[in-house]
Amino acid sequence: MTGVRRLVVVGAGLAGVRAAEAARQAGFTGTITMIGAETHLPYDRPPLSKAFLDDAEPTVPELVLGDELGVELVLGTPATGLDTAGRAVLTGDRRVPYDAVVLATGATAREVFDPAGLTGVHTLRTLDDAVAVRRALDAGARTVVAGAGFIGSEVASGARSRGLDVVVVEAQPVPLARAVGERMGAVCADLHRRHGTDLRCGVSVAAVEGDGRVERVVLSDGSVLPADLVVAGVGATPATDWLTGSGLQLDDGVVCDETLCAGPPGVYAAGDLARWRHPVFGRPLRVEHWTNAVEQARVAARNAIDPAAAKPCSTVPYFWSDWYGRRIQFAGIPAADEVRIVEGEPGGDAPLVALYREGDRVAGALTVDGRARVMKYRALIQRGASWEQALARRTGTNRQGVPG
Ligand code: FAD
Repeated sequence: MTGVRRLVVVGAGLAGVRAAEAARQAGFTGTITMIGAETHLPYDRPPLSKAFLDDAEPTVPELVLGDELGVELVLGTPATGLDTAGRAVLTGDRRVPYDAVVLATGATAREVFDPAGLTGVHTLRTLDDAVAVRRALDAGARTVVAGAGFIGSEVASGARSRGLDVVVVEAQPVPLARAVGERMGAVCADLHRRHGTDLRCGVSVAAVEGDGRVERVVLSDGSVLPADLVVAGVGATPATDWLTGSGLQLDDGVVCDETLCAGPPGVYAAGDLARWRHPVFGRPLRVEHWTNAVEQARVAARNAIDPAAAKPCSTVPYFWSDWYGRRIQFAGIPAADEVRIVEGEPGGDAPLVALYREGDRVAGALTVDGRARVMKYRALIQRGASWEQALARRTGTNRQGVPG
């Protein structure tokens, strides 16, 4: 291993924790300092819009950073700058020197409308957000969700499981249009409607109004929805403000090469804030999914402590989302010349599998309750498999007739 003795990880979230673990697993014996803006111990986010809202006794989904890792955890201390020439992370007046640094500050929820100081209006990114949303649902709030992405849709699912009235407002023609494309987005729309959620597509929130606390939501088509709780699930912005002036290239994330190196020696990025050139898809990607953060963190940490042996990061995007007891999973990218349903029927209760073709390659796979099937296609996408090879796998046999 090289002369790296001081590894600093900025961001005490999923990618940060996994980066520290990966460095130790790779045999790194130097110091690891992890700097986190929040005061909470590291925690996991996916349960915040699922079990944390749904379970009778919600528990904080902690990300355990074992003592044996010997990480110095500096919480409640946002990093304010990066001095790449002097190799130090800045936290206000303090300089934290590094030989290598992994940037893992994730993303922050996008705020689209100004709640003008009204209570009852939330985003859902942090544990504190989830506590507030849960409290409102427990109080029986009439709920309006802005954005039918995976977080907004899971909040709607949580509201319906309590029998609450919920309206989901989506500016696109269907939910998840950018994530899975319009055809499969329509399948997701059907899930909402079958479970009693009032889904309104092609409109947006024009205003939230009330007296001290939210009372109603006005939509762009003029309709007015009574509301006690408004949750905005309209995407996230990479948390790169603190890197302004650092000299790093910032363009909807920290721009990295294939090895997740952000340019200056020793500087790597992972998770929701990293935009890197994907070796399989041959284009820059920034991915806001759990598995991406885990897999990038491993690569970034190993490359950071041993840059001479740096390897490219070829993780294929993958996400899951749980709606009304059904599991939606998607692997790959939704850029498609063709989407073909190879198993199941839209609107049915049986598992559904759809494949996405780009040129002569399989680019993506969506499943509803497909569980393990999606991973089979993810592996094919990673290998750059052809469309024909992917279609052959749907029958359970590959091209050589070997059971798949
Ligand atoms: P984060 O988890 O956001 O961690 C970044 C950390 O850095 C945060 O703790 C933040 O406070 C800290 N930070 C920010 N700025 C600074 C600073 N200047 N200095 C120091 N620290 C800083 N993905 C899926 O695939 N499936 C799901 O079902 C799913 N559900 C989700 C549900 C919710 C409610 C949310 C919010 C996300 C969900 N995701 C899901 C996405 C997944 O959780 C994220 O992709 C993942 O958390 C990204 O990890 P990260 O470490 O890059 O960022």
